[in-house]
Amino acid sequence: MIEVRNLVKRYGSHTAVDHLSFTVEKGQIYGFLGPNGAGKSTTMNIMTGYLGATEGEVLIDGHNILEEPEKAKQSIGYLPEIPPLYTDMTVGEYLKFVAELKKIERKKQRDEIRKVIVMTKLQEVENRLIRNLSKGYRQRVGLAQAIIGFPDIIILDEPTVGLDPKQIIEIRELIRELAKEHTIILSSHILAEISAVCDHIMIISGGKLIASDTPENLEKQMSDAGTLYLDVKTKKENVQEMLSGIQGLGKWSVEEKEYSCLITIQEGKNKDPREELFYACAQANYPILTMQYKKASLEEVFLELTEAAKKGSERQKYPRRFGMSGRKKEQIEEEENKDESSL
Ligand code: ADP
Ligand code: MG
Repeated sequence: MIEVRNLVKRYGSHTAVDHLSFTVEKGQIYGFLGPNGAGKSTTMNIMTGYLGATEGEVLIDGHNILEEPEKAKQSIGYLPEIPPLYTDMTVGEYLKFVAELKKIERKKQRDEIRKVIVMTKLQEVENRLIRNLSKGYRQRVGLAQAIIGFPDIIILDEPTVGLDPKQIIEIRELIRELAKEHTIILSSHILAEISAVCDHIMIISGGKLIASDTPENLEKQMSDAGTLYLDVKTKKENVQEMLSGIQGLGKWSVEEKEYSCLITIQEGKNKDPREELFYACAQANYPILTMQYKKASLEEVFLELTEAAKKGSERQKYPRRFGMSGRKKEQIEEEENKDESSL
């Protein structure tokens, strides 16, 4: 439905979007998640034909957004970061103007506008000038202009930014409602925003796609980084000796406390060492006071990924960890080999 191929956007020497490729299938809610400056708005502006790319292309239902803009844009509704509102118009006048722009048939316009006004709860302000509306209402007018005509794909750039919690919940409900019949792509720099509504998360950092999966899979894949905590009643030396005898344990550390030792083990090759640890402690007569396994949360996944991407050097690990396309993986491995041979 949407195909983004090798998108690059450079501003002078600064690369805002760096070889981004992905596809968007029908009927899902996609979330672009990334810190400020990650390249989300730039990508959305290119996808919707507001901005040209330096390299790469965007196909909407097979139509190139730059070569066949009219056809491609027919299936897209877009709410940019700063909604394109004419503040001297009333809400009603503005939506009529948008309906004209979108070439919605005259006789269908009234019904269409009515439907959108009800969906976005704008009835009370229909005859008010946009310039006198609060931020929350303006955002809803922005949403209304994006969904008028009910295009197949609705793209929303940070739709909840600047709204109060009640308005955020209302917008989320509206997005879920729209998703029943439309494909939605929305962006946010806040994980909770994205994980609350999206079926598929694309994490973007430094203009690169660093992970792309369902929220559940992202969490599952990251459980590689789970941590095991054990509180064992014995001396530090005893614990160290015992742990050294267990194969495949991840990185561990021991902290001596007043009556016991706190052991922290990062998950290693030995995927679940809990039973082995239990029997080892039992055999040695070291009572286990607590044993707790803590999986990385999606929040931690997001932070780790974006932090590491900022540093840049660890980037190559992600395709393997996050099961991205084989082609890209090979490409990166090739680059890695090249790096090595040039040393
Ligand atoms: P996001 O929406 O994820 O916060 P943007 O797409 O707005 O990120 O910006 C990505 C990067 O490109 C940022 O570093 C930003 O400063 C830069 N950038 C965006 N627009 C321009 C522009 N018109 N000229 C120069 N740099 C820009
Ligand atoms: Mg932005």
